[in-house]
Amino acid sequence: MNVAKLICDKRDGAELPAEQIHELVQGYAAGNVPDYQMSAFAMAVLFQGMTLDETTALTEAMIASGDVIQWPDDRPAVDKHSTGGIGDKISIVLAPLLACCDVNVPMISGRGLGATGGTLDKLDAIPGYRSEISIDEFRSIVSWNQCSIAGATASIAPADKKLYALRDVTGTVPSVPLITASILSKKLAEGIDALILDVKWGSGAFMKTREQARELANRLVTVSNRLGVKTSAVITDMNQPLGQMIGNAVEIDECVDVLKGQGPQDVRDLTIELGAHLLVQTGMSKDIQDAKTSLNRHIESGAGLQRLIDMVRSHGGDLNQHRDRAASHEIKAADSGFVTRIDARRLGLSVIEMGGGRKKLGDKLDYSVGIEVLVKLGDQVKAGQVIARIFCPPQTSHYAKELVNASFTLDPSPITAPSLIVETIS
Ligand code: URA
Repeated sequence: MNVAKLICDKRDGAELPAEQIHELVQGYAAGNVPDYQMSAFAMAVLFQGMTLDETTALTEAMIASGDVIQWPDDRPAVDKHSTGGIGDKISIVLAPLLACCDVNVPMISGRGLGATGGTLDKLDAIPGYRSEISIDEFRSIVSWNQCSIAGATASIAPADKKLYALRDVTGTVPSVPLITASILSKKLAEGIDALILDVKWGSGAFMKTREQARELANRLVTVSNRLGVKTSAVITDMNQPLGQMIGNAVEIDECVDVLKGQGPQDVRDLTIELGAHLLVQTGMSKDIQDAKTSLNRHIESGAGLQRLIDMVRSHGGDLNQHRDRAASHEIKAADSGFVTRIDARRLGLSVIEMGGGRKKLGDKLDYSVGIEVLVKLGDQVKAGQVIARIFCPPQTSHYAKELVNASFTLDPSPITAPSLIVETIS
């Protein structure tokens, strides 16, 4: 294969044959295509885009660079992927609830990226939880509990691991075909039958506009269905944090509250919505309403919480053991008015500043820090009302208070609160 010619073809807008894309990815994974050629290729894709056929071939090639997990046929295997948002803890509530509905949930998750926290970092806040396990242990935990949430091993889509690291430092992350192949290669390597995607747009999301989110969602849904996985997407609003808690230990506390039938309504609503689509996609429920009834029943009965406790125990953790929370400091509204803007990204970055996220690879996290957001967009507040609490050690409290305070805008005129669920693409 002539890689230089392939780069020129893409640069000039040609559609590449599937075989060439497969050869390129194989060569890159094997170390025969150097990083400088792969970055030039990624940049050409960023500018020229890829057709559906090309994106499908790229996704297939990245899956084929590693192993695909096989599951017994006795029940469908399903998963959810979110493009990431502030306070997004849905996976930790959803996986055990779905497991109660007789589907397998082999969920491979990631760590914090940019301003957004990662599911694995949150789970690591549970004393004893081991999120990095072998594929064999992952399979055995799923067969015991019907759900497991763990990190990707080196054998899951290794070409994506290499290419993602390269894109991160060559300005080639924001390309719809590259994002599509990257996300789907990891998810489809789980050997799932159905997938639901939560594609977020807004100030705290990767996609800043609704149109960008729709374009990504359409591409993800089309390619995933072409590759035989029943997939749909829900576009959701991320112009304010999801739920009230942002951090690691505090988000686990909120997940437990939701599974006890308490906690914020938006977390429960989105969990039930995403889960219901999966139950319908797999034929486990006859329609969305029936699916929602089942999922809600497993919250009310406590079965979902028990399933989370069991899953955590299988990973070596103890959900009932105390999780530290740093000292609490109140943020009060300076004036009376309506909440017209919440800078979700800034809140996410504030948690990183407090030590709850990484500034560089390998940073050790302080699981005890976080923020509790007590208002939503559109709420009316009075001067002096507590609008947020931060949990952090004294040495970062002054700076953190300033950052969090600046994340809220109050105006004299009201706004209409945005809907969380914007549209569904199936
Ligand atoms: N998340 C991924 O896994 N890959 C991307 O390219 C972007 C976000």
